[in-house]
Formats: sequence, structure tokens, C-alpha cells
Amino acid sequence: MAINVINEKCKGCAICAKNCPFNAITMEGKLAVIGSACTGCGVCVDKCPFKAIEKVKEEKSGVDLSEYSGVWVFAEQRENKIMPVVVELLGEGKKLAKEVGCELSAVLCGYNVEGLADELFEYGADKVYVADSKELENYTTDGYTKVIFEAISKYKPEIVLLGATHIGRDLGPCLAVKANTGLTADCTKLEIDPVDKKIKQTRPAFGGNLMATIVCPNHRPQMSTVRPGVMAKAEHTPGRSGDVINLEVAFNEGDIRTKVLEIVKSVKETVSLTDAEVIVAGGMGLGKPEGFDLLKELAKKLNGVVAASRAAVDAGWIDHAYQVGQTGTTVKPKIYIACGISGAIQHVAGMQNAEQIIAINTAENAPIFEVADYGIVGDLYKVVPAMIDELNVATELSMEEQLC
Ligand SMILES: Cc1cc2nc3c(=O)[nH]c(=O)nc-3n(C[C@H](O)[C@H](O)[C@H](O)COP(=O)(O)OP(=O)(O)OC[C@H]3O[C@@H](n4cnc5c(N)ncnc54)[C@H](O)[C@@H]3O)c2cc1C
Repeated sequence: MAINVINEKCKGCAICAKNCPFNAITMEGKLAVIGSACTGCGVCVDKCPFKAIEKVKEEKSGVDLSEYSGVWVFAEQRENKIMPVVVELLGEGKKLAKEVGCELSAVLCGYNVEGLADELFEYGADKVYVADSKELENYTTDGYTKVIFEAISKYKPEIVLLGATHIGRDLGPCLAVKANTGLTADCTKLEIDPVDKKIKQTRPAFGGNLMATIVCPNHRPQMSTVRPGVMAKAEHTPGRSGDVINLEVAFNEGDIRTKVLEIVKSVKETVSLTDAEVIVAGGMGLGKPEGFDLLKELAKKLNGVVAASRAAVDAGWIDHAYQVGQTGTTVKPKIYIACGISGAIQHVAGMQNAEQIIAINTAENAPIFEVADYGIVGDLYKVVPAMIDELNVATELSMEEQLC
């Protein structure tokens, strides 16, 4: 929609200019003029007392939607290992493909990676497009963008999903700009509109205080990067197979401007929060960094791992790798035990999909209790040791039973 001033009706009162949230209207003599900052929000249309401003339909510029079909998942691999988020994307992609009524495909780039196609079939891909070349051994923005963009232009998928990993966040926007289409970053929910079959992409915005649902009506493919750890993993069907389609890979000199000299792995302790079945998380309620030792003890008893709120990370009590939440990791364990965590929306955004949430907090009105399945109002330094004692008793009993 565009905004148009009906010159004959405009009285030059400037009410529209004063009310425009984007300062997009200027007064030229006694006439309102709409500038390039206009977003078409329509506030001026409602405010004009003389009905001198109207919304007009713009000619849609897009593509022939009927030419596009299929859901594609970018099969991110590192050192010839498929990234866990790909299995989540295939699970979600399968669901979307079923609702749209199309095939699910994976796009795999790398060197000597063809063998990984079988894994992708077993996780639900019907087709795997493979670009196998020495130049694609390490990820480069130029190399991957060129190959995948050419494949998109040739095979015309309707939907393209990438993990919101460092690579996916780099590659997604480059592909979207080349394909002249829309991309929604860091989605936490994807749905197909039952009426027009377009994809509704939902992502947190404004620090997680608002969930925005975005559609890409006239351009294709519809592209999303999807936050790791949010979508359910695809089912694994051993022996399932499909079609491999080899993509042509030809680079001219200068096509790839990045030269990878060395890949240095972080020496930081590796934390696998997304794979953990049990997470014992601590927040400011711990009062001191040593509190995490107690939580580690409980986590060990439950074969789990510890995690933290951002406040605890910011306090320097634990590394950022352990942070759960909007600016940390999103987790979906079987059990999430929140100890001394208030339950701010930015934290809850990262753990609310846990199967069971247990909250321990001294304040009975702490927001964490709103998402908790079980809540214990109390001092974590009393509750957690009591839980450890109970688990010790249970372990001893089960050992006795085994000996009998
Ligand atoms: C843009 C943005 C992004 C953010 N991203 C994240 C994110 O990814 N992850 C995240 O966690 N936060 C994030 N935050 C911060 C978030 O808003 C909160 O500030 C943070 O989650 C609070 O951490 P907390 O619950 O540990 O601390 P507090 O809010 O201080 O809560 C401490 C809780 O401990 C309880 N308590 C105190 N003593 C005890 C005790 N002895 N036993 C039991 N309970 C006790 C208190 O009652 C209180 O509820 C973000 C904020 C912004 C603005």
C-alpha cells in the first residue's frame, strides 16, 4: 500500500506531518508531501480531518509463484559431520512439506560429502542436492552462496530453511539478497497458512517482548533461519533412501574472495546444552559462583548438565556457553530445574519447551512459577541438598534391590 495526498482536498493544516511517526511528511507551501521515509502505516490517513490522504494499492512486483515448489533444508556440515540443527530442520521441513503437499530436499555442500546424503535420507529428505568440490571444503560466504543460489535459480524451491548458526546467519541473507526474496531470521515457530499455503514465520522481536509473525507473500523462495534447539528432531528411519542430484560446481578466479588460512577451535569447555536430557540451571539466587558446585552435584546425580541465567553469566560466575535464553542457548530437555532464577521473559524464551520444569525460588510470586510444572518455594541451599540426599537414598535402595 502507498499513501497519496489528494491535492484538491489538502488544506495545509499540517496535522498529518505532526502525527507521522516517521517524520515522512513535509509541508510545501500549503500542501502535504509524502517523503521516502513513509512506511505506509496509514496514521496520516486516519488523522486528516479533510479526508485528503488515502491509501492506494501498489502494483505488486514479485515472481510467478506457481513456478516454485518444494521445501529445502540447508544441510550444514562441519568436518563432514551433519550439524544437529539439520535434523531439527528436517523434522520441521517434513511437517511443512506435508502441509503444502510437496517434497522435502536437503542441500549439501562440502568436499567428499556425498556419503552424508544417506544420513539425510534416513532423517526424511526425499532428495539431496550435493555440491562436492575441493573449493567447498571449508565454508566461505562466496563459495556456498554461488553454488546454492545457482541451484535455487534452477530448481526453484518454495521454502528454504537454514539453521540460525554462525554459518546459517551468514549464508541466509546473502542468498536472500541474490534471490531478491524475503528472509526471516532466527525463527522459533513456522506454520503453514491453511488458506493460501504460505509460511507464517514467527520470531521474537524487541528483546523478546513481542513475537512477530512474518509472511513473504510475493517473492520466492520464502526463507527462514531457524533457532537451533527449538524444533523437534526428525525421526530416524534406517535404510531409507532417496534421489541424489549432483550440482554443477564451477568457480572462476575471484569468485571466492575469502581464503581460509586456519581453523582454530575454541579451547573453551564444550557444553552440550541442546542435547542434555536434564538441566540444572542457576541464577542470581545462588548468591555466589560456588553455588554452581552444588548444582553440578545435583546434575551429576541426574546425568545432566548445569546451565545459567544471563545475570549469573554477567556476574562472571560461569561462562557464556552455559547461558540459556534469548541471547544464549535454547534448550528442550526432559527436565529443567531452575534454581534461584526469577523467570524473566528472556530466560523463559530459551527453556519454556522443556518437558518438565521444576522451579526452586524463595519468592512465591517469582514469574518462573508461571511456567513451572512443579514449584518449590524455598531456599535452594536447603532444597537442593535435600534433593541430593533423596537421590542418594533412592540409588542405595535400587542397588540393594539389584543385589537381592
Ligand atoms: C535483550 C536482553 C536479552 C537477554 N537475554 C537473556 C538470556 O538469554 N538469558 C537470561 O537468563 N537472561 C537474559 N536477559 C536478562 C533477563 O532479563 C534477566 O535479567 C535475567 O534472566 C535474570 O537472571 P536471574 O533470574 O538469575 O536473576 P534475578 O532476576 O535477580 O533473580 C534471582 C532470583 O533468585 C531468587 N532467589 C534469591 N535467593 C534465593 C535462594 N537462596 N534460593 C532460591 N531462590 C533465590 C529470587 O527470588 C529471584 O527470583 C536478557 C535481557 C535483555 C534485555
